[in-house]
Amino acid sequence: CGVFGIWGHPDAAQLSYYGLHALQHRGQEGAGIVVTDGQALRAVKGEGLVNDVFNEENLSNAKGYGAIAHARYTTAGGGGIENVQPLLFRSSTGTLAIAHNGNLVNANHLKQHLEKSGSIFQSTSDTEVVVHLIKKSKKPGFRAQVKESLSLLKGAFSFLIITKEGMMVARDRNGLRPLSFGRLGDAYVVASETCAFDLIGAEFVREVEPGELLVITDQGIEEDRFVEMEKRAMCAMEYVYFARPDSNIDEINIHAARKRMGRQLAKECFGIEADVVTGVPDSSISAAIGFAEESGIPYELGLIKNRYTGRTFIQPTQELRERGVKMKLSPVVQVVKGKRVVMVDDSIVRGTTSRRIVNMLKEAGATEVHVVISSPPMKNPCFYGIDTSTSEELIASSKSVEDICEAIGADTLTFLSADGLVEATGRAFDDETRGLCMACFTGEYPTEIFPDTVLPHVK
Ligand code: 5GP
Ligand code: SF4
Ligand code: MG
Repeated sequence: CGVFGIWGHPDAAQLSYYGLHALQHRGQEGAGIVVTDGQALRAVKGEGLVNDVFNEENLSNAKGYGAIAHARYTTAGGGGIENVQPLLFRSSTGTLAIAHNGNLVNANHLKQHLEKSGSIFQSTSDTEVVVHLIKKSKKPGFRAQVKESLSLLKGAFSFLIITKEGMMVARDRNGLRPLSFGRLGDAYVVASETCAFDLIGAEFVREVEPGELLVITDQGIEEDRFVEMEKRAMCAMEYVYFARPDSNIDEINIHAARKRMGRQLAKECFGIEADVVTGVPDSSISAAIGFAEESGIPYELGLIKNRYTGRTFIQPTQELRERGVKMKLSPVVQVVKGKRVVMVDDSIVRGTTSRRIVNMLKEAGATEVHVVISSPPMKNPCFYGIDTSTSEELIASSKSVEDICEAIGADTLTFLSADGLVEATGRAFDDETRGLCMACFTGEYPTEIFPDTVLPHVK
C-alpha cells in the first residue's frame, strides 16, 4: 500500500490526491482521503484507481488543512469498500482516522485478547486492532494511549492517524516499510515514497525513524518515540520491485540500486553469450540497463508494455487468460528475431510470467532466451505485506534452479545471489542501523512469527 499525509495546507485534499497519484503503483484496489478543517473529519473513498475514485466535485467538497490518504494493495483482509482506508472511527471520546501500510504479525493474537474483553470488529483488517487498543488503553491522554498501543504491535507498519487536532505518524521498530518526512512551505508532509514529494514540490527532510512517533499539530511538530529501534530490516523487495525508480529510500535511489543489481548479475552470469539484453517493463528496465553496461551486450527494447491495458474486468477463460500477458506485453520482432536474447526480470514468484514471456520471445523468433533475475529465489512467504503468495505457490520453494529453468522453457536461468543483492542496495543485511529484510529469500524473519500469524490474503 501507499500512504500520504499533510498538515497545515489549505489544499490538503487536492495535494493528497496528487500524492496518491504518485503512489498509485503501490496499490490499485482502492483509494481514500480523510480530511479535517478542525471541526470534523470527512472521508472520500472508493474501490479502484485513484482517478476512478476522486473527481473535481468530491475533492472540492473535502475542504481542510490536514489530510491522510491511502492507496490499497491486494486483497489483505478481503476486498470491499469497508476495507478501503483510511478507516474512520467515530466515538464520543474523539473521532479518528487511520491509514496503514504493512501487515502486523500479532494481529490475531491481540484480537483474541480484545474480543475476550468485549471488542467487536467491523472489518477483517488488522488495522482496526490498533484503534481498539487505543480505545481500551488506560493511559492518561491520547498520545500516551497511542504510544502504548503501538508498542504492543509486531510486524510491519507505517501508520498515519488524523484527528481534528492533528496528525500522528509512526513506523514499526524494524522499519520494514518505507516512510519519508518532508516540508511544503510551512506544511508538514509524509509519504511512503519520495516520488510523492517530487510531484507536489515538497522538500525531503528525513526518514521517519523505526520506533518513532511524530506528533504534528498547529503548534508544530514533536518528535517522540514509542519503542527503541530493533533489528533494522528495510524490505529488500522495495529496492528490487515495489518502489518507483525515481524514489529514494534512506537516500539510496531505487533506479541506481537496480542498475547495480543488473551489473552484479552480469558479473555472476559466467559465460552467457548473447546478442541483445532486454528488460521486462517497467520494473526491470533499470536492471537490464545495468546488465548491458557491465556485460557489453547492447540493451534493446525487446518488449513493449501496453500502458492502456488497465484492469481486466472481464473474467477470461483459461485460453484467454493464457493470452493475458500478450495484452500487456508485446515482443518487438525486429529486435529479437534470430537473436540470442538475455531477458532481465525482477523476480519469479509463481513462474507464470517468465514462462509466458520466454514463450513469446521464442515465437517472435529468438534463437535462445537466457533469463536473468535481479533477486534471489523466493522460497519463503512474506508476512509483512508485500508478496501475498503462500509457500506452495512459490515455485522456488519446491523446485531447484534447474527445474525452474525447465519449467519456464528458458535456455539458462540465473538468479542474483543474496550477497550480490545486499551489496547492490548499498545496505548490509546485519547492520544495526542500515539492515535489510531478506526473509523471503533466506527464511530469516526479522520479527517473531506467531503460530497464528496469517498471510495478508488468507484472512
Ligand atoms: P510470477 O512469477 O508469479 O508469474 O510473477 C513474477 C512477476 O510478477 C515479476 O515480473 C514481477 O514484476 C511481477 N509482480 C507483480 N506483483 C508482484 C509482487 O507482489 N511481488 C513480486 N515479487 N513480483 C510481483
Ligand atoms: Fe520484503 Fe521479502 Fe521481507 Fe517481505 S519477506 S518484507 S517482501 S524482504
Ligand atoms: Mg515484472
